Amino acid sequence: LNRRLAEFGTTIFAEMSALALRTGSINLGQGFPDTDGPEEVREAAVRALRDGRGNQYPPGPGVPELRLAVAAHQERLYGLTYDPDTEVLVTAGATEAIAAALLALLEPGDEVVALEPYYDSYAACIAMAGARRVPVTLRPDGGRFRLDLDELRAAVTDRTRLLLINTPHNPTGTVLTREELAAVAELAVERDLLVVTDEVYEHLVFDGAEHVPLATFPGMRERTVTISSAGKTYSFTGWKVGWVTAPPALVTAVRSAKQFLTYVASGPFQYAVAEALALPDSYYADFRADMQAKRDLLASGLKEAGFEVFTSAGTYFITTDIRPLGESDGFAFCRALPERAGVVAIPNAVFYDHKDAGAPYVRFAFCKKAEVLEEAAGRLRRLV
Ligand code: PMP
Ligand code: GLN
Repeated sequence: LNRRLAEFGTTIFAEMSALALRTGSINLGQGFPDTDGPEEVREAAVRALRDGRGNQYPPGPGVPELRLAVAAHQERLYGLTYDPDTEVLVTAGATEAIAAALLALLEPGDEVVALEPYYDSYAACIAMAGARRVPVTLRPDGGRFRLDLDELRAAVTDRTRLLLINTPHNPTGTVLTREELAAVAELAVERDLLVVTDEVYEHLVFDGAEHVPLATFPGMRERTVTISSAGKTYSFTGWKVGWVTAPPALVTAVRSAKQFLTYVASGPFQYAVAEALALPDSYYADFRADMQAKRDLLASGLKEAGFEVFTSAGTYFITTDIRPLGESDGFAFCRALPERAGVVAIPNAVFYDHKDAGAPYVRFAFCKKAEVLEEAAGRLRRLV
């Protein structure tokens, strides 16, 4: 293994899901729903397979139906217009979009300013590109993790090539406010930076909040690569259909890297996701309400079990602080949790460079059936 990747080892998600299987624990670690997405979307995939659509290599940029549907979705929800032919690229999940964007846009030695804690593939892809990550730590403040705009400004240097943003934010559940996003946008314009924004949880915002894409801010559309995925929005994480929307030059760049990673993927599923993107507004409202109820269920269970619970305004994760339980090391806590309580969770420290800053935080996924969450909460209550 080369030096660029040596520090990363096995992804925490594989490690913790294997631990859950081995110990028969309830897996609230890796974020995937235990209920598959809509029947009609599954039927659309079956039809595509049966009718021979996508069983051979689909076009490099993605099937036209899906590119059109992605563009229509951005227009309908956010008033953002993208040309499906030149400004939309289908990828093998958001994971490939992130990798291709970073590999395409970074020169060795470039600095990438990213919000810490960050989704684990960011650090690995920045490293594979030979670039350097500069984390800006989100800190708890009034029950949520907040971005310090002065710290963000201070992190940008002459070597900064791009800002890597994620909202709604995994693992903290923070949704950046309009003010925070406006400040990010202003900084990007002022310093002439590219922005890669991971918005895979765009439809998972709670309590009536709205997701505001960074690309909608003044001066941003032309410098922003927006990434999303069908995995989260339609509960098909195994299909690995993601996409990029960006201006033509940026899409062309990302595609240059993408063509040598997978070239193409998920042929028949692309047709099914095109149909999913056209689901009526009621689908999204129901999905959000269902996840919000699950969030509330798990949050109250965790509180009763003695955790400090941070507000999850979006995503399907809750971040907790374990110090009220008399614990301080999230790694040790998560390693012992299957044995102690039959539950698996993720130590947030894996998403930090400043390991100390992340040590007491532990992430739980709530995209599970109510009875599973109730059982997990009951087990965790017996911890105290
Ligand atoms: N970004 C974030 C923030 C995520 O949480 C995930 C999935 N866990 C991904 C990207 C990857 O998405 P996909 O499964 O579509 O590759
Ligand atoms: N995005 C999911 C999470 O954060 C897991 C994705 C993965 O397993 N790589 O839990």
